[in-house]
Amino acid sequence: MTHNPDRHFWFVTGSQHLYGPEVLTTVGEHAADLVRRLNARDATIAPLLAKEVVTTPEQILSVCLAANADPACLGVVVWMHTFSPAKMWIQGLRQLQKPLCHLHTQFNAEIPWDRIDMDFMNLNQSAHGDRELGFMMSRMRRNRKVIVGHWQSPSVQRQLNIWSRVALGWRALQTLKVARVGDNMRQVAVTEGDKVEAQLRFGFSVNGYDTSDVLKHREGISPQALRDLLETYESAYTLAPGLQKGGAQRASLEEAARIELALRAFLEEGGFGAFTDTFENLGEFAQLPGLAVQRLMADGYGFGAEGDWKTAALLYSMKVMAQGLEGGTSFMEDYTYHFGPERSLVLGAHMLEICPSIASHTPSCEIHPLGIGGKADPVRLVFDSLPGPALNASLVDMGNRFRLIVNEVESVVPEQALPKLPVARVLWAPKPNLEVAATAWILAGGAHHTVYTQALTTDYLEDLADMAGIEIQVIDAETRLRDFKQHLNTQEVYYHLFQRGY
Ligand code: MN
Repeated sequence: MTHNPDRHFWFVTGSQHLYGPEVLTTVGEHAADLVRRLNARDATIAPLLAKEVVTTPEQILSVCLAANADPACLGVVVWMHTFSPAKMWIQGLRQLQKPLCHLHTQFNAEIPWDRIDMDFMNLNQSAHGDRELGFMMSRMRRNRKVIVGHWQSPSVQRQLNIWSRVALGWRALQTLKVARVGDNMRQVAVTEGDKVEAQLRFGFSVNGYDTSDVLKHREGISPQALRDLLETYESAYTLAPGLQKGGAQRASLEEAARIELALRAFLEEGGFGAFTDTFENLGEFAQLPGLAVQRLMADGYGFGAEGDWKTAALLYSMKVMAQGLEGGTSFMEDYTYHFGPERSLVLGAHMLEICPSIASHTPSCEIHPLGIGGKADPVRLVFDSLPGPALNASLVDMGNRFRLIVNEVESVVPEQALPKLPVARVLWAPKPNLEVAATAWILAGGAHHTVYTQALTTDYLEDLADMAGIEIQVIDAETRLRDFKQHLNTQEVYYHLFQRGY
């Protein structure tokens, strides 16, 4: 799936008339030059578009309304090259509904010591011009990304790129349709939540379907499509002997292929970008969809098991943000622990549904019994994952707000083979350590289901939380439980007193 054809970010430079037309012309030239050179570096996931320098309340309102109305505009970057009295920005900022990034930079990097005069100072005064705008955005309690530094520095360009990717993911959430095939796993709490509030807050809609809505698409499957898909399996994976042509369990692989084709047709027909299923509502599914779900995730679909629509939507948006980056992103579950004398680890996996985008080798396609669900043995991809830095993210509904919880982890290669484990897995050391991380996670109410990513860092999720106006709790190498508990209490008070608008 491609998510950003013909999209762009608007670059709006603020000023005022006080300096005369000559200065304003120079400001406009600088802004155009900055945009051209940032675009040459692919600083943002979609190109920046330099808009005219704005100098009046009318112009500012007009550009903000136009940004709202342009479906190709993913967000707005603002920069006050000179001073732009911020009462002029009130109407525009009040109307602007696109993600907002305040780039606090300066056209020249260094002070020209031998020739600096008052003209130079008046032209290059973002140091205080941007503070004036900053006050107004804070006064209005407006969420925005603030990036500080010279625009040619790698750090500024990296932050811009992250923000732009998150804006793209945010846009994708606005139109996302999540299909729930079956309801929640019975009695499970954390996968529940307020779907109306979620749509108001994040934009995505969640609706329920029956397995028969999926399986009716089996009828349209052509023998050729089935043969082609089986060939794809044969070339992409190492098939267990029983699943190979003429093998005793070949029929199960054919059934898995029919399930994949039916699911794909269902998702495409409905325009769904994410979905859930649950082993308790499998209807006429012959086996729990494993291979199909894994391959659909690899193609960019969001997924949550046991009816977990929040994780499905979060996974979808994170896959959009991560497009083209190194490292995979998958549905995940903290499954079992390894308490070691020096370091404790978490084995992450699920019954079947881990995305092969995180695989460290060609997955093995296998069939094994599944103790729950009461269906035939499901086909699944089994693999280990790449070591390296990663994170787990969980979105929970606290009743009066959504909370995003992030734990940074270091994934490691298992010390020994796991010959009897019939599922894809990841082994990680949480930061700062398992004891502190799991204590903080549990205190924050983090779910057992997460989105696991090696492509995105915590910065992305902080930007996402800002755009959505939701709480974020980060558990990283610096986390101290005493501070963390205090922070949870502070947030409780904050969200009791203050709710961000939609
Ligand atoms: Mn689960």
